[in-house]
Amino acid sequence: AFTAHTGIDVNVAFLENGMLERLLAEGVRSPADVILTVDISRLAAAVAAGVTRPVLSETMLANVPAQFRDPDAHWWGLTSRARVIYASRDRVGDGEVTTYEDLTNPKWAGRICTRSGTHSYNLGLSSAMIAHLGEPGAKDWLAGLKANLARKPQGNDRAQIKAIWAGECDIALGNTYYMGEMLADPEQTQWANSVRIVFPEFGDGGTHVNVSGVAMTRAAPHPAEALKFMEFLTTPEAQKIYAEANYEYPVAPGTAPSDVVASWGSFTPDPTNLMDIAKLRATALRLTEEVDFDG
Ligand code: FE
Repeated sequence: AFTAHTGIDVNVAFLENGMLERLLAEGVRSPADVILTVDISRLAAAVAAGVTRPVLSETMLANVPAQFRDPDAHWWGLTSRARVIYASRDRVGDGEVTTYEDLTNPKWAGRICTRSGTHSYNLGLSSAMIAHLGEPGAKDWLAGLKANLARKPQGNDRAQIKAIWAGECDIALGNTYYMGEMLADPEQTQWANSVRIVFPEFGDGGTHVNVSGVAMTRAAPHPAEALKFMEFLTTPEAQKIYAEANYEYPVAPGTAPSDVVASWGSFTPDPTNLMDIAKLRATALRLTEEVDFDG
């Protein structure tokens, strides 16, 4: 749709299951010019695999704040998603939970649901926790969160919100855009309506965010067109279209999210660069296993 919109002729690869392996197998003969994907872990994996190339442009630098792009310019964020707390409208009052650290408070014992601690979304959050609290603090946080779980980690983000609706737990971790997806699905609207979004901050400030982003492939057969396309994607105009479709937040300064997304409230994103968070992933995985988070 974007290539039709822009009239720029590029081949886009969506970095989903198996695509990175395919790009590696195709090597220099790959027809892909541009990679689009969600989550810093996938963007960082593509960079580490050597299938991307750095690109710099004044337009992109102006449209994408520093924390949402690779310091080495291999990937560029387009929209962001926050990892937030979904709280029962009936059983959790305003102001009862305001920080990620609050999740370890014994008052939540047996009341929290989450997906696996080894999923990328939770590893992103626990990596950020290491950046904020250091390794021992992050390990204590993981252990304290585990101690408050209503059940073993299981299911996806939406399954946790369904569990709140069903009365199995009172608060859950989840990404913001799932609220939009649930509201748009007649079978899930009642789950969405049973909760409200709380934007927690780290104790020292900022809400954990991740990105949907873009990168140019190392083998791009049409690099000039690919750069034009990437520049277009980073414009506020394109980010608005993108954010409207995926219920995310445009990263361009001064660009507002859609009305439905704006209705959930506002927050200040953690200013830590996502590449610094990505570098802590292996440590986060080790800590998650050390506390037997999913056990
Ligand atoms: Fe998701």
